[in-house]
Amino acid sequence: MACDVFALANVGVQGLHPYQPGKPIEELQRELGLTSVVKLASNENPLGPSPLAMAAAQAALKQSHLYPDASGFDLKKKLALKLGVSENQFTLGNGSNDVLDLIARTFLSAGSSAVFSQYAFIVYPIAVQAVGARAIVTPAKNWGHDLDAMAAAIEPDTKVVFIANPNNPTGNYLDRASLSAFLAKVPEHVIVVLDEAYIEFAGVEDFPDGLTFLSKYPNIIVTRTFSKAYGLAGLRIGYGVSSPQIADLLNRVRAPFNVSIPAMSAALAVLDDDDYLIRSQQVNSAGMQQLCAGFEALGLSYIPSVGNFVALELPCDAMPVYQALLKEGVIVRPVGVYQMPKHLRISIGLEHENTRCLNALQKLKSEGVLD
Ligand SMILES: *Cc1c(COP(=O)(O)O)cnc(C)c1O
Repeated sequence: MACDVFALANVGVQGLHPYQPGKPIEELQRELGLTSVVKLASNENPLGPSPLAMAAAQAALKQSHLYPDASGFDLKKKLALKLGVSENQFTLGNGSNDVLDLIARTFLSAGSSAVFSQYAFIVYPIAVQAVGARAIVTPAKNWGHDLDAMAAAIEPDTKVVFIANPNNPTGNYLDRASLSAFLAKVPEHVIVVLDEAYIEFAGVEDFPDGLTFLSKYPNIIVTRTFSKAYGLAGLRIGYGVSSPQIADLLNRVRAPFNVSIPAMSAALAVLDDDDYLIRSQQVNSAGMQQLCAGFEALGLSYIPSVGNFVALELPCDAMPVYQALLKEGVIVRPVGVYQMPKHLRISIGLEHENTRCLNALQKLKSEGVLD
């Protein structure tokens, strides 16, 4: 009695492909018998976790037999104070990815559509398609979001627009004036998601803080995460900030205990670790300069980035280069799933990790692999 379970799945789900994560270090060590491996593939924080966050998570293990505080009271209170908004504007997530999913499940279904850009974060098409909604993908301009095209692409059934600022995997950003002009054009019944996973790294003067638009445009949801600059990717915690009305809706859909006790405790602690955040930013900007100077010395181009990663552009197909880098013990991220077959996304590492990556590229160049 063979049952075709595939046919049972929602139509949107049938068309999905599993998300391709960066290759884990241990996997490469197993496969190639390498001992020393550098992973610059998942935009993780190369400093390791904040010691304050680790101590807090460890202490929180004593409460492991209890369910977490489903309201996230302490964390919301602290975030509210820090960001100048109210507690009832937050939606906590198991990573901000969880919040993006909640947004799709709350506002989208078969019969509605979402707009996002070509080369935008891969989670948007997954979240949209999984709930059976239609994706409207606008062509990129210079590898970035074309906001005029996005505004023009909004249709009567469009309920959500997703914008990553800075964008992953390209690393480029939308400045305050462009974003502001775009928001003024979006109908008020369309939700605009401003995904700010990398905002802490975007140290440019004209970079817009999405929260400053919230009072004027109540249709905005800003999402942020503790995974990148705050170094807690493995604990899974992020959040959305929106109007209280939108937060109320998202919180109805949210699984009540979606954020663990150690994750909330670590997040509370790292918010007090100013030194850690500053070091994250410093290591990132030094590493970005190091890598980009190295690329230039090798005659390679890249998309200028304000994130903690950079998309290197190769003169050839990126997959053989990716494979050859693996043999050198350097894991980076191919972005073929983004329709960028000639790019490799490289996360900024510590100085010696960046050096290792550049040396491996130098070797491949001398071997003609980069031709
Ligand atoms: C990494 C990332 C996220 C979220 O990651 P979480 O770990 O789920 O918080 C969200 N958006 C973009 C663009 C990202 O690159």
